[in-house]
Amino acid sequence: MSDIKEIGCEEALRRLFEYLDRELDGARHAEMEQHLHTCRACYSRAEFERHLKGKLGAVGKEPAPPEFELRIKNLLRRF
Ligand SMILES: [Zn+2]
Repeated sequence: MSDIKEIGCEEALRRLFEYLDRELDGARHAEMEQHLHTCRACYSRAEFERHLKGKLGAVGKEPAPPEFELRIKNLLRRF
């Protein structure tokens, strides 16, 4: 699917919490990630909110730390 649109900061912030809760559908989630990859301001904001959520003890969902994710990706690449 290639219908990923570029979204602005305003749209990104509007979706931020749904994004963190993984409630966005595939395309919207991808758009959000795309924006976070290119926009440092929103990326920091997302990281901040994610940390905050973590501290508040969101039940059940444990976000994998980046280095862990990276390790998995490296492992998968070997196969
Ligand atoms: Zn932004």
